[in-house]
Amino acid sequence: MNIALSIGHHPKAQGSDSADGLFTEYSFWKEHLPELARELEALGHTATVVNRSDAGGRTPSYAAAACNETWADLAIEFHFNASESKHASGTETFYWYTSARGKIAAEMVQQAMVDVLHLRDRGIKSVARPAENAYEFFHRTRMPAILVEPAFAGSNMADCNRLRDNIAPLCKALARALDDFSN
Ligand SMILES: [Zn+2]
Repeated sequence: MNIALSIGHHPKAQGSDSADGLFTEYSFWKEHLPELARELEALGHTATVVNRSDAGGRTPSYAAAACNETWADLAIEFHFNASESKHASGTETFYWYTSARGKIAAEMVQQAMVDVLHLRDRGIKSVARPAENAYEFFHRTRMPAILVEPAFAGSNMADCNRLRDNIAPLCKALARALDDFSN
């Protein structure tokens, strides 16, 4: 399978800062997605780390355009959550409401993240309306697509530590889940 691994946000608009102030959504995934790509390649897949800035803009439509250029079979956008409340916690995954393959990928990836991080399982969530999370990303990607929010690392220190301290097992578990999805 050919998989696009899209870094959330943009070098000049990096999304949320982590609760410990040490990284941003953009810097975290820019650093760690090459590790996930290597895990996928070790299982015989093709994985491309995608940066929406290469498509020329900051919004989710540019992330979709950058993913489309890879001709991938599946596109994944990587983020982490933040909330006004520092107690909000957990893992969630988004998919496009009409995509059966996207929903299956979301279920498998969500389970893999929950199994590694052991945070609250907030479930998978469909995106159908323009006001919803990353609508333009889902609307414009030509392949099944999902968006992951593994933890509230932007506002909850425990979630932040859990994500940062488990990135290696998380990459391995995501690669295995995507390998299962391809079969
Ligand atoms: Zn984000």
